[in-house]
Amino acid sequence: MLLALRSYQKVQNWHQADACCSTGSVRNAADPKKPNPNINTTLPESGPGFRTYNREENGVDQVGLPETIAFIQRLGGEWEKESDIPFQVGDISRAGGGSFPPHEAHQNGTEADLRPFRKDGAMEPTNINDASYDRDKTRQWCQLVKRIDPGATILFNDSQLIKEGLTRFYKGHHNHLHLRPSLTSDSLDQGC
Ligand SMILES: [Zn+2]
Repeated sequence: MLLALRSYQKVQNWHQADACCSTGSVRNAADPKKPNPNINTTLPESGPGFRTYNREENGVDQVGLPETIAFIQRLGGEWEKESDIPFQVGDISRAGGGSFPPHEAHQNGTEADLRPFRKDGAMEPTNINDASYDRDKTRQWCQLVKRIDPGATILFNDSQLIKEGLTRFYKGHHNHLHLRPSLTSDSLDQGC
């Protein structure tokens, strides 16, 4: 009975942590309903080590906290030293944060979606079940993220990378990686 209760609590905690980390909890610490003026920095369309995809005009869907954007750019600079193939960044947040359908998350300017790497290096989509998917390159990129920011969370459903402790499973994440650096999690997400 006690054992059953313990495992029930464990499951509950796991779900709570996941829900918290995937949706982000607070976009404006003072008033969650109000836009956060700090979510104001747009990722450039491209830069050293990175490109963007599915970008709306003027990058209105690629806005984050200054430290989130700085992290992606720093990651790009480091990645360029070890790879000729840039990584590809998709949705981040909208200016001021808040609702960003169809995402549950991406409300706090702290998270970015990225494409997995392809063996042909093309700036195109792929997924873990596609022959074009390049696990080794994707692993290498995850390892770099963890080296720069050991507390970073990467949601991505490659079971091998999950086994290696690089990524975590989250529904729907077979065709993109969801990155949340820890550098930005303290200021808005209240310790999640
Ligand atoms: Zn995402």
